[in-house]
Amino acid sequence: MRRILSILTTTLVALTASLCVTAVNARQAESQIRVLVNGRIWTGDVARPWAEAVALQDGRILAVGDRAQVVRAAGSDARQEDLAGRFVTPGFIDTHTHFARAGELLLGVNLLDVSDDTGLRRRVGEAGDRLPPGSWMVGGDWGAYDLESDWAPRRSVLDSLTGDRPALLNKWDRSQFVANAAALAAAGIDPATHDGLLSREEAGRIYRAMPRPSFEQRLAEARLGLWDLVRHGVTTIHDITGAGAMRTYQYLKARDSLTVRVCARPTLDHWEDLAAVGIVTGYGDEVLSICGLKGFVDGIMGNSSAMFREPYRHMPDTRGRWRTMMSPPGNMERLIGSADSAGLTPQIHAIGDLAVDTLLDMFADAIEQNGPRDRRLRMIHAQVVEADDFRRFGELGIIAEVQPYHAIDDMRWMEDRIGSRSRGAYAFRSLIKNGGALLVFGSDWPGTNAAWYPADPVLGIYAAVTRKTLDGKPEGGWYPDERVTVQEALEAYTVDAAYAAFEEDWKGKLAPGYVADLVVLSEDLFAIAPDAIKDVRVLRTMVSGRWVYSAEALSP
Ligand SMILES: [Zn+2]
Repeated sequence: MRRILSILTTTLVALTASLCVTAVNARQAESQIRVLVNGRIWTGDVARPWAEAVALQDGRILAVGDRAQVVRAAGSDARQEDLAGRFVTPGFIDTHTHFARAGELLLGVNLLDVSDDTGLRRRVGEAGDRLPPGSWMVGGDWGAYDLESDWAPRRSVLDSLTGDRPALLNKWDRSQFVANAAALAAAGIDPATHDGLLSREEAGRIYRAMPRPSFEQRLAEARLGLWDLVRHGVTTIHDITGAGAMRTYQYLKARDSLTVRVCARPTLDHWEDLAAVGIVTGYGDEVLSICGLKGFVDGIMGNSSAMFREPYRHMPDTRGRWRTMMSPPGNMERLIGSADSAGLTPQIHAIGDLAVDTLLDMFADAIEQNGPRDRRLRMIHAQVVEADDFRRFGELGIIAEVQPYHAIDDMRWMEDRIGSRSRGAYAFRSLIKNGGALLVFGSDWPGTNAAWYPADPVLGIYAAVTRKTLDGKPEGGWYPDERVTVQEALEAYTVDAAYAAFEEDWKGKLAPGYVADLVVLSEDLFAIAPDAIKDVRVLRTMVSGRWVYSAEALSP
């Protein structure tokens, strides 16, 4: 965690400038045929899984195959680029992101792993350099990775670091708030009479006095978010999207600066508004589309609000709780059934064993009511599944959208909280083998107020293939029979993720006619030891035939 965050904060500022690809020059270059040669290319195409070369034109793939064959197909005018023997995969599709929130954390202050003055000085200083002049510094969520510590920032230190920029920071669990002098003054509180440690009521007063971030700030956040994605090889996100992010996406897209394809997912309770203007799943184009609606059945494991049949072991009074869409009784069934019949795809969060079982029942009802159709309903997280429920995924054709990095972050406390039910937690192999489910992978980037989840498919693949923490524990992997193979993990990030969004005819593999989205990695994932996967680097990322990220020379 510390390692990931420090790499992030030190590289982001310096590197963002180069993200602004000069679109005009790129356009001219695109119409010329280019051939990438001398690669070890995993295509994701069952008809031809491996290739040496790929020809590109106008953002699409012209030919894939042996070098001689592809060079011939490309013609004598084609320009060649040498891949230096590197491993190539189709661009990664992250099926679970919170783009707007990630941008806020990347541009603003991130204190999740900070629990002392040294960390505070560094992070607040860095955020001050990134934030536009005059904007507020807000949040931080300090202390999430040091639960024993009772450290909190002092106003005197904060004042010395922030000057006249207003700052209002909070602890990860929102139990403590601290404001600097400028923020107190903005809310009409005299800084001379206040030490900056706030009651909940005072914090609320300052929040109300805070101006909304400018659109320029939102754009700056989005550019950092895009950079963080492409440097990890992510070329498409299935995003949980609010109205603000949608506006930012449209603005960037109109300027040819949306360097990642976006499948937006508004919330399920908006289905009627979308249906009223004729929007169905797939609305939009190849860059920005609506690919489903997100709903919630229950809470999360992190704060023991995921819904179980039996109580949590460490909190015998609770079994979790249902989310608001579940009430009044019958509401969620109505939302799922109506959205489905309107051609909008419900994609619903369910984590605890009771939540998973309940959602499977609701999906079954919707299918029965609305009749057979190719609908690709999705369960988001599908985190703790009872033995009897695996097969129902296959029977009902439910796609399981899971986040392998969660498994290796949560395993620290999973068994303390739910005991033997952990057997069905992140049970990827069982979902495929006993369940016949289609598995798609994502990150949940940037995480929650209690955890940072990197938008890093390489770490996701490592987690799914080894089921070990980043420092290699436990030795043989956590419930090792739930591991998946490298190929299954790659498919879950590429071809299968494209299928989940009804995009399998033009995205997710390297085949003629498909979009030229691909990633060059430092190592062949099939050839190295699983434990070494976590150290593999993304060297290049291509979206629509354009290199949107180049880290270093390809030849060693
Ligand atoms: Zn999420």
